[in-house]
This record gives sequence, structure tokens and C-alpha cells, in this order.
Amino acid sequence: MKLKVPDYIQSIRVYKPGKPIEELEREYGIRNSVKLASNENPLGSSPAAVAAMKAAMEGLHRYPDGRGYYLVEKLAARFNLSAECVVLGNGSDEIIGMLTRSLLEPGDEAIMTEPSFLMYEIMVMSCGAVPVFVPLKSLFVDFESIAAQVTDKTRIVFLNNPVNPTGTIITKKGFEAFLEKIPGHVVVVIDEAYIEFAKDPDCLDGIAYCTGDRPVVVLRTFSKAYGLAGIRIGYGLMPAAVAGLLHRVRQPFNANSLAQAGACAALDDNDFLNRTIHFVHGELEFLYAGIERLGINYFPTEANFFLIDVQQDADAVFEAMLRQGVIIRSMVSYGYPRYIRVTAGLRKENEAFLKAFATVMDSTGGA
Ligand SMILES: *Cc1c(COP(=O)(O)O)cnc(C)c1O
Repeated sequence: MKLKVPDYIQSIRVYKPGKPIEELEREYGIRNSVKLASNENPLGSSPAAVAAMKAAMEGLHRYPDGRGYYLVEKLAARFNLSAECVVLGNGSDEIIGMLTRSLLEPGDEAIMTEPSFLMYEIMVMSCGAVPVFVPLKSLFVDFESIAAQVTDKTRIVFLNNPVNPTGTIITKKGFEAFLEKIPGHVVVVIDEAYIEFAKDPDCLDGIAYCTGDRPVVVLRTFSKAYGLAGIRIGYGLMPAAVAGLLHRVRQPFNANSLAQAGACAALDDNDFLNRTIHFVHGELEFLYAGIERLGINYFPTEANFFLIDVQQDADAVFEAMLRQGVIIRSMVSYGYPRYIRVTAGLRKENEAFLKAFATVMDSTGGA
């Protein structure tokens, strides 16, 4: 086919999602496999959210409320912000795209850590803008190096707290010193997809900054701790002036009616959220203990996933784990050729992981 395609679109790396369970079972002819690859909620979804979505099925012939009134009001009240500061998205992924589309021209620069969430790079490149990568330093965000990369062309800095895939955090102190060093027009995005799991008291809470005089944007999602990844709903909190830009490029009905109903109910279901957080923390301890027994190094996390140093080609370990029916992530494409990333699952899933991992590491002579 003859197409005229911009070079910057041709050179976008395609996002590789975690392998779906059905696909693994089909390809390998196995059953009862376990997926610990996409940082999903092992406890499922809030029952209250599921009930609310079932009730909302009655109204599916209607377009959704394009403003998402109830959810926006609920979020604004929860965080003590004006409703004008809240923007809903079809997942927080979509808000990343709204930010890049409304802020970036071809040739502009957006800074992000390396590794970081691939959607930043994809959305920046979709606009013909330039992603500028700043390596993490011993798995942590290196603010000094980020500040040093700011130029006249810099429009956005993408931060992620806790960091995916390392599970490290940004501290309040580190962030404040950084904010002082960068020009006032640069939009600083703090993607807090895993913030609910963070325990460290020094962890930055980005919401404190998104009503100030600086363009700071906080992204949050219902996909992880709230267990609603499949319905696609996330939100951004930001100064009203930035929200106004996003509304210009936003699709009018981007947050669907089931998602709005489910998210409203999920926000009220503190019991499910607290159970999830407590459960994940307990299972991380269980996994750490199992990996320590194997004499293998891992990196403790502030999120619901963590890195393990397999001391050999992580792609080979990923493949060998697949054959054992366990889906994890190889970090080769993230620039960590010897690390894998594992999400805390149910106890029986974590047991299956440890058993398979012991077998794989034993047979490959790792550790
Ligand atoms: C999972 C994740 C998200 C959430 O994406 P949704 O589109 O809301 O499902 C955002 N950022 C990071 C870093 C993530 O890992």
C-alpha cells in the first residue's frame, strides 16, 4: 500500500502490553496460568463498583455525561479542589495524549526518565515532538540531570511517582528543589498511578502542587488499586488554565457511562481500597521472603510490583517462565537486561510464581 507517513510516526516504538492469559494458554497449550505482568488488582474490582456498572447498563442507549458531573464533583470534593481542576480520561493514558496534543508542536521537547512508562514517549512522538530521556540513577529519578536537560524547547517534564518499573519514590524535598530550578512555563506531570500503595512518609503528594501558580499536573487512575483496568477510567488534577486546554482537544464523550458509574462507586468503597492495599503489602512480603530463600536479589518497592535481578538474560527467564505458565515482564526493552518485573498477585498465584521461578533459576544456573 502506498502511504505518505511522517517519519516521526514511522519511528514510534509499538507499546507491548503484558501477554493476556488467554493468548499464553492458546499458544502453549497450557491451563491455570498466572499473570503477574500488568500491575492489576489481584482482588478484582470493588463489588460496589460492579453493582453500579450493572445498574448503569440500563442507560447505554444514551451518550454519557460529557462533563462527567458526578465523578468530577466527587473527585473535586475528595481532594478539596475546584471542579474546574479535574479532567477525566479514558484511562490516564488518554490524558497523557491530551497533554501532548494541547502543548506540543513539532520540534518541541518533553523530558522523561529512562526507563519510564512508554506512553509518554509514544504520545510525544505522535505530535512530532522530541522525547528527551534522562536515565534513572540507581533506580531513582535524577532531578539534577533532568534540570540540566531543560532547554528553550522544553514544554513538559513527565515524572512518575512511584516509578514504574522500579517501584522507587520521589520525595517532597527532591521535588520542591527541582521545581525551583525549572522555568515557570514548563508543565510538570506527576503520574501517580501507584500512589495508593506508597508507604514511605517522605513520598511526594503531587496534589498539593496542582492549584499553585505553577503548571503541575497530577495523573491518577482507577486501573490499579481500584481494580477497574478493563473499563478505562483515569483523571488529571491541574490548574484550571491547563484543564481548559485539555478540554479543547478532548473527545466530548471520552469517559464512558459505565466507567463514570463504576468509578463513583469505587471512590466510595474505602473498604475495598484498604483491603487491596493491605493485601498487596502482605503479598509483597511473602514474595520477598520466597526470593530471599532462593538467594536472589530484588528491589523493595513502594508500588504493587517490584524488580528482581536474575543475573542473566531477562528475556530468557521470561520465556522459561511462560513455559511454566507464569507471565511476568522482562525489563530488557526497558534498558535493564537482567531484571524482571513481577506484580503481587493472590497467594496461590505468588506461590505458583515462586515455584516456577525456583525451577527456572535452578535449570538456567542463575543466582
Ligand atoms: C498503569 C499505568 C497507568 C494507568 O493507565 P490507565 O490508562 O489509567 O489504565 C499510568 N501510568 C503508569 C506509569 C502506569 O503504570
